[in-house]
Amino acid sequence: MTYIFPAPETASVAIVGNGDRFPVHRIYCIGRNYLAHIQEMGNDERQPPFFFQKPLDALLPSGGEFPYPPGSENVQHEVELVVAIGKGGVNIAVEDALDHVYGYALGFDMTRRDLQEKAKKGGKPWEAAKAFDFAAPIAPIRPASEIGHPSDARIWLAVNGEVKQDSTLDLQIWNVPEGISHLSKLFEVKAGDLIYTGTPAGVGAIKPGDVMIGGIDGIGEMKITVV
Ligand code: MN
Repeated sequence: MTYIFPAPETASVAIVGNGDRFPVHRIYCIGRNYLAHIQEMGNDERQPPFFFQKPLDALLPSGGEFPYPPGSENVQHEVELVVAIGKGGVNIAVEDALDHVYGYALGFDMTRRDLQEKAKKGGKPWEAAKAFDFAAPIAPIRPASEIGHPSDARIWLAVNGEVKQDSTLDLQIWNVPEGISHLSKLFEVKAGDLIYTGTPAGVGAIKPGDVMIGGIDGIGEMKITVV
């Protein structure tokens, strides 16, 4: 069998500490998972979590350059904890969910906010707002076997040295086990899935030349330059 053109390489993310890589199956994102961010966006605080996806080639490694995407005049940063799934399942119970976690990483859920607002108003899908090229920067994954399961660490993001987002993971409305459990009732979760778990308040627009640096204590930091 011959492919008619070269097949894409398997998408993967670096793992801290050795040369191994985490092969990516899907990229899920949780919407509206910190109360203060829901309030800053003017959304209903009582909604259950919901999910959207980004394509595999949206991944952008730490240290990379984020090309300002076309079609938007308001592209915003969202710093997020990313869960890397190591063991699949369906209908995963909250109390079993952490057994399915391989590790954690820091990610940015880059968003064309103006297109998202238009989509919301029109009841249309979020693809153009969330699933564009390079929209999922991610730092190397740290195995849970080494760092455990951080649940109250500081999460922050600075643009050009000025801190814009600064929160803690315990302020998530749906914590990691609850998020995995919810997701597994809608999709068969598989090894290789990444889950971006939502952003705290303080999201804002970036422009070419900006340098975004984010971090989660105990997990790592990431630097992305907007070009
Ligand atoms: Mn987000």
